[in-house]
Amino acid sequence: MSKEELEQLRAELKAAYRKYQDMELSLNMSRGKPCKEQLDLSMELMDILNSDSDLTCEDGTDCRNYGVLDGLPEAKELIGAMMENKPDNIIIYGNSSLNVMYDCISRSYTHGVMGNTPWCKLDKIKWLCPVPGYDRHFGITEYFGIEMINIPMTEQGPDMDLVEKLVSEDEAIKGIWCVPKYSNPQGYSYSDETVRRFARLAPAAKDFRIYWDNAYGVHHLYDDRQDQLIEILHECKKAGNPDMVYKFASTSKITFPGSGVAALATSLNNLEDIKNQMKNQTIGHDKVNQLRHVRYFKDLDGIRAHMRRHADVIRPKFEIVERTFDEQLEGLGIGSWTVPNGGYFISFETLEGCAKKVVSRCKKAGVTLTGAGATYPYHRDPADSNIRIAPTYPSVEDLAKAADLFALCVKLVSVEKLLE
Ligand code: PLP
Repeated sequence: MSKEELEQLRAELKAAYRKYQDMELSLNMSRGKPCKEQLDLSMELMDILNSDSDLTCEDGTDCRNYGVLDGLPEAKELIGAMMENKPDNIIIYGNSSLNVMYDCISRSYTHGVMGNTPWCKLDKIKWLCPVPGYDRHFGITEYFGIEMINIPMTEQGPDMDLVEKLVSEDEAIKGIWCVPKYSNPQGYSYSDETVRRFARLAPAAKDFRIYWDNAYGVHHLYDDRQDQLIEILHECKKAGNPDMVYKFASTSKITFPGSGVAALATSLNNLEDIKNQMKNQTIGHDKVNQLRHVRYFKDLDGIRAHMRRHADVIRPKFEIVERTFDEQLEGLGIGSWTVPNGGYFISFETLEGCAKKVVSRCKKAGVTLTGAGATYPYHRDPADSNIRIAPTYPSVEDLAKAADLFALCVKLVSVEKLLE
């Protein structure tokens, strides 16, 4: 377009933008929260137990009382099936997997990993952070003063050439954040080759651990388009690295976020190390909630059926955003976006230097997005181009408006950039 054409377009886009401002929208697409209809799907969980219920679990434990440090056997069975690991390799925790990740770093910091020097006694600790990634992961490592190193994401997972090189060279690198399936925010799933390369890593640090956050393991959007991963614990064992991974999951986005059940799957050596800490930390987690979840779902098929109902609620939301972007932005060369088969997010790439302005324009017209930069360590997106879109919470009608406004803001900010 010529300068004059761009100026004309800018005037038209500004007029359209003002109309949005007059609509006084107030929508929030900033966090990956389930919507009310999704929460309603699990309300029967509340009816599973009442004052007449027998709260004795399968091994005779009275769930109302103290005890059972690492989880009810039937909860380990159910969550183990979901995490593709044997019950023996599982610890059932409390209500949040993020909390378990924090706890793993905290324990490594104060007491070390399996007899290695506690990290607090070392000069420097570093961490690999595939980007864009999950802001709360980066928040934990930042809080502990751990130096974060960006690793570019690809559609197959993190850049493994770089991961292999860095971990083999630098003993200060103690871990990596991974969201292997339907990653936050791109919705990418690691290829078999990526998982195998992870399992075969040869880290300089003996206490290096892969933080494998399988938060979206069963969160498919479609019946006929589902990403499948090979299982990391099994691969690590085969590769002679049985202790290299901590795998996390929870039922937060299956039942109720904040009132679900979280778990860790790892090797028996790691479990022993962790339980040595846990026994000083708690007498046991919420067994009543574990029992409620087990009696509600019964087995993995129960979880899968439940997740199909979630998908029916949120699939149209992803589709309206994707359709709007296709109609408004396809082929213009001013943005690209992911089309995931599952998870909770769509990731958008603007032209360089435009993300903050797009987010700010949307906010001024009443649509709150995740802050630009949040998907990078220290909130620093070097290209200022990534925006995380969380379509699950608003209604389809609101999303249609919000996606329209978003596309308009992308156009306006891009035209302004081209006129600079
Ligand atoms: N991990 C990832 C990748 C997430 O996206 C989220 C929530 O958005 C969580 C963990 C939080 O899990 P929890 O509720 O089990 O703490």
